[in-house]
Amino acid sequence: MEDEKEACGLIGVVGHKHAAEYAVSGLFALQHRGEEACGVTAASSDKMKSYQGLGHVSRVFHKMNFAPFKGMHMALGHTRYSITGESENLSNIQPFLVKHKKKQFAVAHNGNIVNSLELKQKLENLGAIFQTTSDSEILVHLIVKSQAKTFKQKIIDAAKKIHGSFNFLILTTEKLYAIRDAHGFRPLCYGEFKKKDGSLTRIVCSETCALDLLDAKYMGQVDPGCLLSLDRNGHMTSDKVLETKKPQAKCIFEMIYFARPDSLVFGESVYAFRKKLGRLLAEQAPVDADIVLPVPDSGNYAALGFSAATGIPLELAITRNHYARRSFIQPSQKHRRSTIKVKLNPIKNVISKKRIVLIDDSIVRGNTLFEKIKILREHGVAEVHLRIAAPPVKHPCFYGIDFPSGNELLANKKTLKQIEKFLNVDSLAFISVENLMSCSERNSGFCNACFTGKYPVKIKHSLNKKTLA
Ligand code: SF4
Repeated sequence: MEDEKEACGLIGVVGHKHAAEYAVSGLFALQHRGEEACGVTAASSDKMKSYQGLGHVSRVFHKMNFAPFKGMHMALGHTRYSITGESENLSNIQPFLVKHKKKQFAVAHNGNIVNSLELKQKLENLGAIFQTTSDSEILVHLIVKSQAKTFKQKIIDAAKKIHGSFNFLILTTEKLYAIRDAHGFRPLCYGEFKKKDGSLTRIVCSETCALDLLDAKYMGQVDPGCLLSLDRNGHMTSDKVLETKKPQAKCIFEMIYFARPDSLVFGESVYAFRKKLGRLLAEQAPVDADIVLPVPDSGNYAALGFSAATGIPLELAITRNHYARRSFIQPSQKHRRSTIKVKLNPIKNVISKKRIVLIDDSIVRGNTLFEKIKILREHGVAEVHLRIAAPPVKHPCFYGIDFPSGNELLANKKTLKQIEKFLNVDSLAFISVENLMSCSERNSGFCNACFTGKYPVKIKHSLNKKTLA
């Protein structure tokens, strides 16, 4: 995978006097879902307070003074990657904390609103003044425009107008609300732990790895179309508020690549799913080879499954430099190296003269994979048999994953044979859509539109400007 990005991580904590500290700790586990910015907002019965900044969780919060947040029993945290809106714009950092008619509330969003342009234009025509360029702000305006009597009903009114993928966490001085779209595109789960006095702290978050970090017990998924309401004492109610007759459309790419392998996502083990992908890939496209070599880290678990199924030994012979980030600064023109070479270094004596089965999770543009294979060739491999643990990505995503437009996707432009030639590999196989779907214990209710072009929610006019072509 080539640095395609997830569309944000969410966490909400209630029922603890250090709720903000717990939320920030949880954000460390959700860093992979958004690396551009992060923030936390906490609430007591009479006030709300935020802290946020650009960059990684460790950078933003390392100097944070938690003292003013102590005693605020509810908190909301967010890691951001921008699908819509400029990434460097400070006003786009979430949670958004707003005040309207003496009532304060904060909003954090994961997903992408497919009718955002239409909604924004309507709201602006009614006099709304947008403070950010993010589609997430639309919920704020829809909430304040609602004529419903209660705040909870205003949230429901607003959510009914929004199409596409969304998980929203909304914090007030009384409650934390969590609402998941009717298709359930993005994962949202909840858990709890008991304090010494027997009272409960409850957590709502994108992935279970955040629950693990906080020593909380996983209690289940927030069902699609459901609204959870939690108070500062940890009491929770759940209401089905959005129409869910339409099929669910959980993002299959969460299972292939985006979620952490130690998470349960949509109630399933990501680790087991990826290992099974490798096993089925081996059955579908076997090959005679000396070693199985994963592209780290995204190919690791499928490679494990491929190796176990074939008996071909697994070698972790590409070393990943975890300190090389996208912002890597080239030392000088004279010493310029490709960014790939800085990030990944093969162990020559393990791969030289070997026939390798190279496993990666997916191909999007194909440029970085081209570079990786070139480096392997320079290290003297005898043969490269590329096996991809996803079907060809032929269509863009409009539901919260930052794939490029259709005409930039390698599999949209080239046939299998042409891709094989372009990447300079001896053989190439992608897992079939059928095998991919059968890796799920449930095998239904998934979105796979980036492979099949069958979009579960009609694409309207989104602030996300990518095109299908
Ligand atoms: S189009 Fe692909 S990446 Fe987007 S939600 Fe569907 S499966 Fe996920």
